[in-house]
Amino acid sequence: MHETASDAETTARDDGPYDGTVVGETGGETVTLSSLTKRFGDETAVDGVSLPVEAGELVVLLGPSGCGKTTTLRMIAGLESVTDGSVAIGDTDVSEEPPQDRDVAMVFQNYALYPHKTVRQNIRFPLRKTDLSDAEQTERIESTAALLDITDLLEKEPAALSGGQRQRVAIGRAIAREPSVLLMDEPLSNLDAKLRVRTRSELRSLQQRLGITTVYVTHDQEEAMSIADRIAIMNDGEIEQVGTPEEVYEDPTSAFIADFLGDPSMNLLPTDAARRSADDDALDAALAAAVPDEARRVGVRPENLYLVDDAGSVVGPDGPETTAAVHDCEVTVVEPIGRAYELTLSTPSGPVVVRARTVPDELRGEPRIGVTYDPDALYAFDEDGGRIR
Ligand code: ATP
Repeated sequence: MHETASDAETTARDDGPYDGTVVGETGGETVTLSSLTKRFGDETAVDGVSLPVEAGELVVLLGPSGCGKTTTLRMIAGLESVTDGSVAIGDTDVSEEPPQDRDVAMVFQNYALYPHKTVRQNIRFPLRKTDLSDAEQTERIESTAALLDITDLLEKEPAALSGGQRQRVAIGRAIAREPSVLLMDEPLSNLDAKLRVRTRSELRSLQQRLGITTVYVTHDQEEAMSIADRIAIMNDGEIEQVGTPEEVYEDPTSAFIADFLGDPSMNLLPTDAARRSADDDALDAALAAAVPDEARRVGVRPENLYLVDDAGSVVGPDGPETTAAVHDCEVTVVEPIGRAYELTLSTPSGPVVVRARTVPDELRGEPRIGVTYDPDALYAFDEDGGRIR
């Protein structure tokens, strides 16, 4: 019988963690989403999502809050019923299968560990339903703990662990069964910034070593860029673009994606006729005039704008071969960010952000600076946000 979403939710959240399934083959299976749709009453949370995930691949679902990432993941897990379309794991359509028959494991943001069980008991729990003998279960627990470097925590309860340690236990519990597919919903968001960065690279190398097909949900574009084989960017229930981190960053198909990726994000300025024909030296007017007439916005990433010193030279080692004319700009903010600076310029179209490795000495006294850009690094978008250049 098909398990309802609320029953599954109970399994996952109230009755303890989602402990799902039988032991899978080692290595991953493909996951194929075909026109996957979820409606809650009148609201369409996920709207015809199609996405093939290769065996062993790590695909990130990335997008702003409410765009349907978690609902998509829960449909893959079987924790949410499918309104339309299908989920296949390997060659099998599992859309109507209960979670425990799907050979998937899920790591939740809140880890969902049993508070009164030790780490060993938490990891053992999903192994009960497998056909592993007690001795094999013990061996599996110990090899998983060794893999995650939590052997000395095995007899402790979750309350005695740090956030990072709990997160490892949650991952250990998920992978001990050797599922074909690992689903992760914001698994690092409860960790502090430094630990998050360290843990994500550990997670990535673990996933690659085990070859588990992984679908990973986050709203953090930097995390997505650093961990993914491919990123599927969702907006309003749909996937807008799928590609490697480099592809979606270098070649965004829309203004939405261009804006969503990158920190600080791409400068997007209006290119209305007034700005384009403005007979002044302003940077925004020059950018507007440099893209096709049908463009409604011009985009330039902060790292593709360059400071020019009093002697007319591009400041720092990263200048492009060709640059456009130099524009005199008012600087409103200079913010050191570790090994670089972010400068905010004031233009008639609004603020423009520049990322620079170094700033010239003269900027310290005089809040104006020459700025130029790489003419090959401009993007242009039409009225609907579609990319036209
Ligand atoms: P977040 O990053 O904030 O978790 P998300 O991208 O994961 O966002 P979802 O949680 O999938 O988004 O939600 C997508 C849409 O579906 C939202 O508008 C949400 O309000 C709605 N939604 C999700 N679950 C339910 C539910 N059980 N009942 C009604 N509406 C729901």
